Amino acid sequence: MVKNLSFSYSKLGMYKECPQKYKFRYVHMLPEKPKYYFAFGTALHAVMEFIFNPQRPEFPSLAEALKFFDSEWSKTTFEQKGYASVEKELEGFAEGRRILETYYEKNESSFIHPLSVEMKSTLETDGLSLVSILDRMDYLGDGKIKILDYKTGKTVQREPTQLYMYQKVVETSPVIKALVQSKDPSVKEVRVGEMSFYHLPTLTELKFERAPDKEIFTFWQGVLDVADNIRAGKFDPTPGETQCKFCDYRNLCPVFTGKEYDGPSGYGAHKKVEAVVPPALKKPATVPAPLPKSETDELSEKIDRLGELLDEQHRLEQEIIALMQKNKFARHFGKVFTAELTEEEKINLTDEEKVVALLEKLNLLNKVLAPTRTTVARLLDDDTVSAQDKAKLQVLVKKLKTPRLIVEKQL
Ligand code: SF4
Repeated sequence: MVKNLSFSYSKLGMYKECPQKYKFRYVHMLPEKPKYYFAFGTALHAVMEFIFNPQRPEFPSLAEALKFFDSEWSKTTFEQKGYASVEKELEGFAEGRRILETYYEKNESSFIHPLSVEMKSTLETDGLSLVSILDRMDYLGDGKIKILDYKTGKTVQREPTQLYMYQKVVETSPVIKALVQSKDPSVKEVRVGEMSFYHLPTLTELKFERAPDKEIFTFWQGVLDVADNIRAGKFDPTPGETQCKFCDYRNLCPVFTGKEYDGPSGYGAHKKVEAVVPPALKKPATVPAPLPKSETDELSEKIDRLGELLDEQHRLEQEIIALMQKNKFARHFGKVFTAELTEEEKINLTDEEKVVALLEKLNLLNKVLAPTRTTVARLLDDDTVSAQDKAKLQVLVKKLKTPRLIVEKQL
C-alpha cells in the first residue's frame, strides 16, 4: 500500500514559495536556522493553551499567565530562539509580557472555555496525511464550530486560505466529529460557523464566514495539484528577491551554485544550521546555559566574517573577469544578475619626487594635499589646469587600463 504523503499548510506554503526550498527542507531534511519570530509565536501559543486549557475549571490569573510565559521563555537561550543578541531577546520577552497584559485587560471578563486548544489533527484523505494544529475551537451549538487561529507576526490583514484548510479538516475529521458529539450527542454533522485570525500584538480579530463548498473545492484541488507535483519530484527553483534573500539554503541552491545539490541529507547534514527543537519537546536544561558572547567577541567574529566575504568577493570577481576576457564577453547573464565588463583608467606615478617638484613649479601643489595617483589623476581631468601643464604632467605618469566589473540585478 502506498503511504499517504505527510502534508500541512506550512508545507504547502513553502512549496508555493519555492519548490527547491521545499526539497531542501523536506526531501533532503535539512533544517532551517532558528527564527526568533517562530520562537516568539511558540511561547505565546503555549501560554494561550495554558490560559484556555479546557480541563481546568478556573482560568489562571494574569500573574499566573505571566509566570507561565516566563518559564516557557527561559527554556531556550537567545541563540536557540534565533535572536541576534540578548538585548533583542529581552525586547521580545518584554513584548510578550505586554501582549499578555493587554490581552487580559481587554478580554479577561469574557473568557469562556473552548472545545479544544492546540489540537493536533491528522486527517487521512485523498492520499494525504494532513497534519493541522488547530489553535482553538469553540462550540457554537447545533453542530457548529468556530475556528480561531492566533497570529503573532507583523501582518494583521491576511488571506483566509489557511482557514480553508482548517474548514476542510474540521468538517471531515471523524475525531473532531466524535469530540463534538461527546458534548452534544444529537449532532449528525459538524459544520464551521465562523473562522477568524486573532492577531495578538494588536488584539485584532479578523473574522471570516464559512467558505462556500465551491471555494473549498477549488482550494483543495490546488492542494492536490501541489501534492501531485511533489510525488512527481517537481522541485524546480522559483527564485525571487524576497524569498532568496531570507532563504537558509542559498549556499546550496543550484540558482546560486550553478549545480544540483548532491550533498548529505538528513538532520545534522547541514552544518551551517542547527535543528530547531520545539520547546514542548525540550527538557528543562540541567546544565547551566552557555554564557552569552561578549560584544567584543561578537565584533571580532563579524570582522572575520566580513573579511572572509570580501576575500570571497575578490576571488569571484577575478574568476569572472578571467572567464569573460577569455571568451571576449562584455556582458554575461546569470539567472538573476548581469555582469558587465568595462575598463577603468588608472595612472601610476613614474617618479613621485619629480611630480612634486613639477607641481610646485606649476603652482599646482596647493590643488592637491599629496601627489597620489588619485589626486594627480584629478588634476589631469581638471578644466582649470592648462593643457600645457597637463602635458608636462603626462610625461611623469603612466596610464593603465584595469578591468572593471559591474554586477547588477536584471530588470
Ligand atoms: S535560494 Fe531562492 S531559489 Fe534557491 S531554494 Fe532558496 S528561495 Fe529557492
